[in-house]
Formats: sequence, structure tokens, C-alpha cells
Amino acid sequence: MLKTVAAAVAERAGGGDLWTLSSARELYDLPFNDLLYQSHTVHRTNFDANRVQLSKLLNIKTGGCPEDCGYCSQSAHHASGVTASKLMKLQDVVSEARKAMENGATRYCMGAAWRSPKPRDEAAIVAMVKAVKSLGLETCMTLGMLSPEQAETFANAGLDYYNHNIDTSESFYPEIITSHSFGDRLETLARVREAGIKVCSGGILGMGETVDDRIDMLVTLANLETPPESVPINLLIPMPGSRLANASPVDPIAFIRIIALARLMMPSSSVRLTAGRTAMSDEMQALCLFAGANSIFIGDTLLTATNPGQDRDSSLLGRLGITPITVEKSGEL
Ligand code: SAM
Ligand code: SF4
Repeated sequence: MLKTVAAAVAERAGGGDLWTLSSARELYDLPFNDLLYQSHTVHRTNFDANRVQLSKLLNIKTGGCPEDCGYCSQSAHHASGVTASKLMKLQDVVSEARKAMENGATRYCMGAAWRSPKPRDEAAIVAMVKAVKSLGLETCMTLGMLSPEQAETFANAGLDYYNHNIDTSESFYPEIITSHSFGDRLETLARVREAGIKVCSGGILGMGETVDDRIDMLVTLANLETPPESVPINLLIPMPGSRLANASPVDPIAFIRIIALARLMMPSSSVRLTAGRTAMSDEMQALCLFAGANSIFIGDTLLTATNPGQDRDSSLLGRLGITPITVEKSGEL
């Protein structure tokens, strides 16, 4: 069985037949050591297992979002106490980007609490992309849904990545979000791909979904004509005031299995250990990195939530002998 796993992965990576829930579930259900042996083997075939890519996430526009994403503290539907802010000024975004670069980030992810950017916002976004890119950082935006023209505009500005998570399976999606559809998410991913921007898309564990929902999310991503170059796997941070504030915690072993499965199903994508690391033990994070995760967000805040912060991350990576990818080499991920 073990030999066939690597062969199956290689075969699909070479454009073989599509993943199915059952073929992916078969891998997920392998004995834990076998699953991680396979995912670590595939990881080493595609990446340096002792390197990690560091990104920094900045909220360029906070709160007051009209969408009803059940997990989100920035939704206007939730009494989360997050105050809405205007779009940040360019010089403030650039000075934050400089600090991120000094702390080792090679990619700068700018997020806005929007359903979609409005035409009046586009020039400011273009200016941010150009200014951050001129520092030598890879640029990423996550602004909600895009029209084909907007994707084109941001691509022409030199945007490297666009994050737009599908968050969960198509069947579970309406339980979490009703103000836009799973199909809307896939449509924006197609427009971003069409415009020639790299895709960052993944999801969240811990929203009340089943294991099959988690696996089905990965099947959707892996079966895209070109799978995302970046796959963020978030552990739900239960935000006070949000509909998921009292969601039950995720079994760490089940979370690590999904990291391993993401690695096997999308062998050359960067698997990103994103939200929720504050709640993860060092051992859990170490196992996620062994299973195939190779990118993290640095800094002590994400959008409106906490993140482990520089000291804890440097201590963990140092004890693991894992070194950050430098700006020159960040194209590897
Ligand atoms: N408004 C943009 C959108 O909806 O695409 C950006 C949203 S946010 C910056 C990016 C992602 O972070 C979300 O799509 C979601 O997957 C994740 N996220 C947001 N809140 C979270 C939470 N409380 N716990 C875990 N992940 C979360
Ligand atoms: Fe709005 Fe994005 Fe939060 Fe959904 S995830 S409520 S679209 S900011």
C-alpha cells in the first residue's frame, strides 16, 4: 500500500485522473505513521524540509463587512467589538511592510474586510501593490470577490498572489456563509488564475464540519485545473461575538492528518499553517511542519486575532533546525 501512495500522488501530480472523496479518504485513514511517512517523503521530493517561508498579514481595512461569514470578527453581522476603520494610508502600509521584511517575511499579505473592492478603492490598492513590491517583497491581497476587470487591474500592477479561501466543502459552506456562495468563491479563483495571478486558497478546520467536509475541500482545490500555489489551512479561532464563538475544538491529530493530506494531494503547493497557531502546542506545530506544512504567518497579530509572535516562532524554528527562506530565494515556494 505504501509504495502505491507515492506512485498515485506522482501520477496525479503528472495530470492523472482526478481525486475523489473516497481516494483521498483512503489516504487520510492510513495509520498516522504511514500517512506522515508518505507526506514527508513527498514533501522532501518537492521542498527543502528544513526551510519555511514567512509571510506577514496586515489588515488594510478593518471591520464593517456586509458579509455574514460565521467565523469572522469583521462581519457587521457580529457584535465582535471590532471597530470599522477606513482604508490604510499608503505610507503606513509601506512602513509596516518594511518592518515585516526586517523580521524575515518574504511575502506581504494585505487583507480588507470587503465583499469586493469598490471601483474607488482600486487605485489605492494598485499603489500598495507597486510600493510593497518595490521593497522586494512578494505581494498578496485578500479583498473578497473580484470582477475579471479588477483581477486584470491588480495583475497589471504586479500582484503576485491573491488569497480567496473556499473555507470548507461545498455542501457545508451554506452552514457558515449565506451572503455569497461557494460558486462565487470558485468564480473569483478562476478570474484570478485567468489574470495570471498566483492563487492562495484553503480553508478552516473547527467550524462544525465533518472529516469528509475537510477532505472534500482539499478535493475541490486539488482538482482545480491548476491547484493553488498556496494552500492555507486555518485552525478556527473562535472569535467572541461571532456565530462560531463556541465551536468545539479540533482534535490535533485530525488537524495534522489534513496537513499531510494537503501535501499529498497538492505536492508542489506551499501548505500554509495559518490561523490558530497560538492554540497549538510546539509539538503539534512540529508535526504539522513534518507532515508537509512549509509556510507560516509571523507577527503577534493576524487580522484581529493573536498569533504566536516573533520570540515563540524563532525559538520553535530554532529548536527544530528549520530556517526561513530569504527574499532572494522566496520564488522557491
Ligand atoms: N474578506 C476577505 C475574504 O473574505 O476573502 C479576506 C478574509 S480574511 C483576511 C482571510 C481568511 O482568514 C478568511 O477567508 C478565513 O478563511 C480566515 N479566517 C478569518 N477569520 C478566521 C478565524 N476566526 N479563524 C480562522 N480563520 C479565519
Ligand atoms: Fe467579510 Fe471576509 Fe470576514 Fe467574510 S471573511 S465577513 S468577506 S472580511
